Amino acid sequence: MEDERVASPELTQLDHDIELSLRPKTLGEYIGQEKAKRNLAVYIEAARGRGEALDHVLLYGPPGLGKTTLAGIIAHEMGVSFRVTSGPAIEKPGDLAALLTNLGEGDVLFIDEIHRLSRAVEEVLYPAMEDNVLDIIIGKGPSARSIRLDLPRFTLVGATTRAGQLSAPLRDRFGVILRLELYTPEQLGTIVRRSAGILDIGIDREGALELASRSRGTPRIANRLLKRARDFAQVLGSGTITCESAQTALRSMDIDELGLDLIDRRLLQVMIEHYSGGPVGVETLAAAIGEESVTIEDVYEPYLMQIGFLGRTPRGRVATPAAYHHLGIRMPQTDNCQLAFE
Ligand code: ADP
Repeated sequence: MEDERVASPELTQLDHDIELSLRPKTLGEYIGQEKAKRNLAVYIEAARGRGEALDHVLLYGPPGLGKTTLAGIIAHEMGVSFRVTSGPAIEKPGDLAALLTNLGEGDVLFIDEIHRLSRAVEEVLYPAMEDNVLDIIIGKGPSARSIRLDLPRFTLVGATTRAGQLSAPLRDRFGVILRLELYTPEQLGTIVRRSAGILDIGIDREGALELASRSRGTPRIANRLLKRARDFAQVLGSGTITCESAQTALRSMDIDELGLDLIDRRLLQVMIEHYSGGPVGVETLAAAIGEESVTIEDVYEPYLMQIGFLGRTPRGRVATPAAYHHLGIRMPQTDNCQLAFE
């Protein structure tokens, strides 16, 4: 089950409370994403200097990279309230109208999974984003009439794993579009040590780096591995997470030295053994391993592509020679070697 997957970057209920305590509150505490931070710091200072709300911000990137955290930081740095909702939670235009009319001056409204808003809800959002007004239709049929309400100036921060799925009119209404990148092991090591400090977990430098290098570039996974490794260190070791106890923990969770878990390896194995390494369509792969194709695209592929194990071609996904090597499978001498990756 997805919830059981230790290396899943998606948020589970279990993580929720701890995540709140681990969330950095200021740009200074937020590790990595230097380019996004640098730009945001300028925009925030400029907006504050003019006494205006910050322009609308779109954050995109795979799950668990810190989009919600960054949205909260924007609100904190602007000194305004932070309201959180998500695309699927806003079912009707009326739901959005209720949210918007309850905002205070300058507030940040965060909409996670913004690509999942319905068209009818999006239509309400456009004038709200552009002119700070809400157009409401009262009544039905020929007697229906539209009234216009003024809204406070606010900042919409939208988050999505897939910027390409956003409709063009919605995307165009964001003044700031920032892409979050996967983190380096060094940055994740810093995040792990910071979290260990907050949670009062003993960990040495090597232990932190070991967990970091197997976290698929994702802070949420790094924090989760930290909690699991603490259990192993407590029960089987001295209580402090060392390189060795981290390795024992990771081995028990079937996470290999690159951070791949059973599902990642199965995905690559199916590509190699059933489809000669590809090209194979993502739908076919999804059916073969029993996952949704969006999960493959949002959750598994970014990291497998980042480490050079998987390529996207116009004809489908291909496993690279590095993937064969990692799984210990000999690569047949076929045209696959000559495939041009995108
Ligand atoms: P997303 O919204 O992209 O799915 P979150 O903002 O919920 O990701 O981040 C998941 C967790 O990872 C947070 O609780 C936070 O503890 C941690 N985290 C994310 N980004 C950072 C960062 N840059 N520095 C420190 N911790 C981070």
